[in-house]
Amino acid sequence: MIAILKHDATPSQVEHLVSWLKNMNLDVHISQGAEVTVLGLVGDTSRVDMDLLKSLDMVDSVKRVSEPFKQANRKFHPLDTVVEVGGVKIGGGHFAMIAGPCSVESEDQIIEVAQAVKASGANILRGGAFKPRTSPYAFQGMKGEGIQLLMKAREATGLPIVTEIMNISTLDLFADVDIIQVGARNMQNFDLLKELGKTNKPILLKRGLANTIQELLMSAEYIMSEGNDRVILCERGIRTFETATRNTLDLSAVTVLHNLTHLPVVVDPSHATGKANLVAPMAYAAAACGADGIMIEVHNNPSCALCDGAQSLTPVQFDALNKKVQKIREAIL
Ligand code: PEP
Ligand code: MN
Repeated sequence: MIAILKHDATPSQVEHLVSWLKNMNLDVHISQGAEVTVLGLVGDTSRVDMDLLKSLDMVDSVKRVSEPFKQANRKFHPLDTVVEVGGVKIGGGHFAMIAGPCSVESEDQIIEVAQAVKASGANILRGGAFKPRTSPYAFQGMKGEGIQLLMKAREATGLPIVTEIMNISTLDLFADVDIIQVGARNMQNFDLLKELGKTNKPILLKRGLANTIQELLMSAEYIMSEGNDRVILCERGIRTFETATRNTLDLSAVTVLHNLTHLPVVVDPSHATGKANLVAPMAYAAAACGADGIMIEVHNNPSCALCDGAQSLTPVQFDALNKKVQKIREAIL
């Protein structure tokens, strides 16, 4: 249930109302906008007398919310969430261009790619250190050493870094990471989500291979319900009957999510398509439909990449992509 307060509600009226609601064993989330204050009531609202609540002087309107996600719900929090990290803002009109290799492979590789994508206008560096591979015999990532190399690349370029966590037992290694990624395969690892909810790190939460938009939002809710509201959602393609592409990019999810939630939404056309020649067109489409950011895999030598070379762009290709993405963003403003 949400209660929208009148714009002239005084702080003491709000305080009084909140303590009255809390006495009914409800959690009250207060969202203070420039114009209105919205109270989100979480818990068993069946005992709340809606008519009584509506009749109060400071209350403008009251609505029952049927969606099971509360904290991620735009109805509770009408304004876009802006996640700020290392001087970069994501959401609410601020755009993240995240680029870098699928995996960190060596110091030279990550620094070369980081410098190239920075020069082309990327504002966040990606790179996998812990890799969730389908085969246990495939390259599993450089793990802790990979995170150290990402930090060196951050030092060399000033770009904040995002990298994937697979197991909460490694959390200490992520202490200096700017954004922690939860990959598609762990989107419903609820214990992992709950523990990340206890941190204050921004979390890039990727949609699971076969998960609905509502399931993605419920996973965001797991993180937020533990106190961490710095969640960035990522559409990275879902599994369908189609085999022409690695996954099927669900771009309508961007608009559906923007309607349902205040959280920023970024698009990963690399994992969605699996093919380098499809990445740029889908990145343009993502920019055109209003995504808050794009994540692109870039490798200095894709044919020798230890992971996902087929979908990796060269720095030159990324440069051309980013120029066009920025033009599309200007065109749709
Ligand atoms: C990744 O971004 O490195 C990755 C493994 O992506 P996903 O979880 O979307 O497959
Ligand atoms: Mn990859």
